[in-house]
Amino acid sequence: MSLNQNFPKVRITLILENESKLLKLLATSVRNENQEVFVNKEKGESLVKEFLDDISIRYEIGPSKMNTVINTISDLLISIELAEKVLIVDWDVHHGNGTQHIFEGDPSVFYYSLHQYPYYPGSGSETEKGIGEGIDFTLNRPLRAGATDKSYIDAIEHDLEKIEKNFKADLILISAGFDAHRDDPLAGMLVSEDGFWKFTELVSRYAWRHADGRILSVLEGGYNLRALTDSTLAHIDCLLKH
Ligand SMILES: [Zn+2]
Repeated sequence: MSLNQNFPKVRITLILENESKLLKLLATSVRNENQEVFVNKEKGESLVKEFLDDISIRYEIGPSKMNTVINTISDLLISIELAEKVLIVDWDVHHGNGTQHIFEGDPSVFYYSLHQYPYYPGSGSETEKGIGEGIDFTLNRPLRAGATDKSYIDAIEHDLEKIEKNFKADLILISAGFDAHRDDPLAGMLVSEDGFWKFTELVSRYAWRHADGRILSVLEGGYNLRALTDSTLAHIDCLLKH
């Protein structure tokens, strides 16, 4: 069975924030025609268990490095013709300056970011909308410190409605950082795990409207392990239910 025939049946993908596993998964996905990254539900659940078992040895990868991972995945998906148009939804609390920069001139990849602003790395104002042919294929939604579930949900509902008028992706890639959680020690947002569940649902609905539900989710930031675990579980729970 070819990749393209195989892929639409897949719902859940989890890539671990553990570089060696992540690279292994990516490498295997190329070599083995997608047997590792795009897993079926049962295998997805076993990967989740493995992730939770391994969480104590998890180490952190900075935003720029993870941006590179996202870029690698996007390129991979397009190069093996799994997708022609990719929507990246990035709710990591840090603006994904690397991802934005790579795709800012590319109308086949829409980059949508919600992030604390002003905050590290300093980029991500609403005026950054892409360049050249990529103008209006970048949407930044800077949010002030203290943003709640409701602030995010209102923004995501509004923005996805706006995005889908002009951009119907056939694959959605989530930069699933959970460092906007209210218990996260780095940033100043007040998101709960229920909020992350709801964000996931909103993105899933877009995915089902335009992309046969195809979502690839990449775990990014999260610096309180309890909050990260609960948020990841909420995210996965929602993906499994949609
Ligand atoms: Zn982050």
